[in-house]
Amino acid sequence: MEKADLNFSELPFSYQKTDFNIRYRFKDGQWDKGELTGSTDISLHIAAQCLHYGQLVFEGLKVFERPDGQAQTFRLEENAKRMAHSAEKLLMEPVPIELFKEAVHRVVDANRKYIPPYGSGASLYVRPYLIGSGIQLGVNPSSEYLFIVFVSPVGPYYKGSGLSCVHLLVEEEVDRAAPMGTGDIKAAGNYAAGLRASIGAKRKGFSECLYLDAKENKYIDESGTSNFIGITADNKYVTPKSPSILPSITNKSIIQIAKDDGITVERRPIAVDELESFVECGCVGTAAVISPVGSITWRDKKIVYGDGENAGPVTIKLYNKLSGIQSGKDEDPYGWTEIVPAG
Ligand SMILES: *Cc1c(COP(=O)(O)O)cnc(C)c1O
Repeated sequence: MEKADLNFSELPFSYQKTDFNIRYRFKDGQWDKGELTGSTDISLHIAAQCLHYGQLVFEGLKVFERPDGQAQTFRLEENAKRMAHSAEKLLMEPVPIELFKEAVHRVVDANRKYIPPYGSGASLYVRPYLIGSGIQLGVNPSSEYLFIVFVSPVGPYYKGSGLSCVHLLVEEEVDRAAPMGTGDIKAAGNYAAGLRASIGAKRKGFSECLYLDAKENKYIDESGTSNFIGITADNKYVTPKSPSILPSITNKSIIQIAKDDGITVERRPIAVDELESFVECGCVGTAAVISPVGSITWRDKKIVYGDGENAGPVTIKLYNKLSGIQSGKDEDPYGWTEIVPAG
């Protein structure tokens, strides 16, 4: 297979046009057969529900080329189920699990030349999303939906050797999501709600903000795009239990790997003043797998982990194990990876 003329090992983590995307429409109570297209535009009615009332949920996953040249997905069904759950919470028409998988398979198959070669460290990022496309002026759920999947080859999150650290700022003035709100689903609106905090932290020189629970302003929720984990001095993996965080598939996978490695896992509320007791911290999500945390600033206190610049041993071990499975370098004992069938 001839690859696209791209410098795969130098790709940034940003949008890169490919040849095809795929769209499925839900209308009159049923999904159509989906259309692969080269057009990057969509046409929507000016009164489409998603444009003013925000019915929009999305997903994100990566496809890797294995050493044998085949493409593999990672826990695709988990993404399918999560998007269906997100849709249901916003009273949207859920995309059937099998249709979601078919859509990803078709669009990846059509864009094979953009799948970064094995060993480049890069991957094909897959972005499925679902929008309420029906005409709606009164506040009601849409009766029509558009499910779109586009892909973009993205560079390795960490270039060169080693994981580079992120520096977090504990956010005390913006709530990302309320306990009984929509923080547990991948709704676009959560991101809009968090932009002010995230950009504010970046302007102050931090990589991201770390949200506290909205009710008590006391417990760690997560950062804007990834779950939070802490490793204790006695080698426990601790991650927040909270109704307002997104159930990360990366976190779930690393928890399994950690348990199988003999690490005790605790999912419980983490009070902000417990941050000092961790020996390593990380932000986990599809984009970076694990971003080691170099420091966390809370009010006028800066808590530094390790030397503040390099990942600790537990983070490195977990990162290597998960990314080895995802990239096809290592055997997958869990059945998490699946070959993308050739059209
Ligand atoms: C997508 C997302 C994550 C990470 O989830 P993964 O399934 O691991 O990619 C974490 N937090 C938020 C808010 C997210 O939207």
